[in-house]
Amino acid sequence: MSEPIIEVLDLQKRYGNVDAVNGISFSIYHGEIFGLLGPNGAGKTTTLEIIETLKEKTSGAVKVYGYNIDRDAAAIKQIIGVQLQSSGYYPGLNLEQLLELFAGLYNTQINPLQILSLVNLADKAKAKVKELSGGQRQRFSIATTLVNNPKVIFLDEPTTGLDPQARRSLWELIRTIRASVTTIVLTTHYMDEAEYLCDRIAIMDQGRLIALDSPDALIDQLLQGGFERKKDVKAATLEDVFIALTGHSLEPAL
Ligand code: ADP
Repeated sequence: MSEPIIEVLDLQKRYGNVDAVNGISFSIYHGEIFGLLGPNGAGKTTTLEIIETLKEKTSGAVKVYGYNIDRDAAAIKQIIGVQLQSSGYYPGLNLEQLLELFAGLYNTQINPLQILSLVNLADKAKAKVKELSGGQRQRFSIATTLVNNPKVIFLDEPTTGLDPQARRSLWELIRTIRASVTTIVLTTHYMDEAEYLCDRIAIMDQGRLIALDSPDALIDQLLQGGFERKKDVKAATLEDVFIALTGHSLEPAL
């Protein structure tokens, strides 16, 4: 494998007497879709926000492209893409104007239509965020992470709250972005999402890292341990039924 682009070493974050992140270490490599998985409260967002230099750690070391988060936070901010909360968007501006505004914050020139095309929103360039569906908002929020031409983007629960079609459409978008742009680090509590999207996943629970491997390898390890499912699983799920019945009417396919 190539050199790691993100290195996390014995990272800890303590809130009062809660160990939100309790001594985790891992590396992320160029071109990966890397997933941080775990139940609510596992410490995923805290870990992500520390790497993004948005939150102070209690102890440990984190490097992003060789930059140390303690000394080089400004340099790290220049080369990463982070999703903003949609409540932070100026309501009076349209999508094109918002992207130009964000590019201005990075002191860089962009072609907003090119970025909107990448997330399949070119036809919404003159629309306001409040006029978008949930899936379109998420796609726009991914577009905002791309304005500074980042080397790595961070997506925190990118498909939470979306209907199945919008989720699958977003999965395809995330794969497209990885292929054409960058490395992606995401958090999710959806196992199907992690299995479909991620090259490797780190499973967190109660602040600790309890597994780190490719989805395939993790499943193989479980099966080698003699695991058997209690009952047969049907070849389709209710979600497949829903998508087959409703077609692509809710979200355009990418
Ligand atoms: P996840 O993203 O996996 O759901 P979080 O990183 O948000 O988990 O939270 C991990 C733990 O840290 C939880 O127990 C949460 O309550 C706690 N926590 C997160 N942020 C704060 C904060 N600002 N103050 C106090 N406790 C916090």
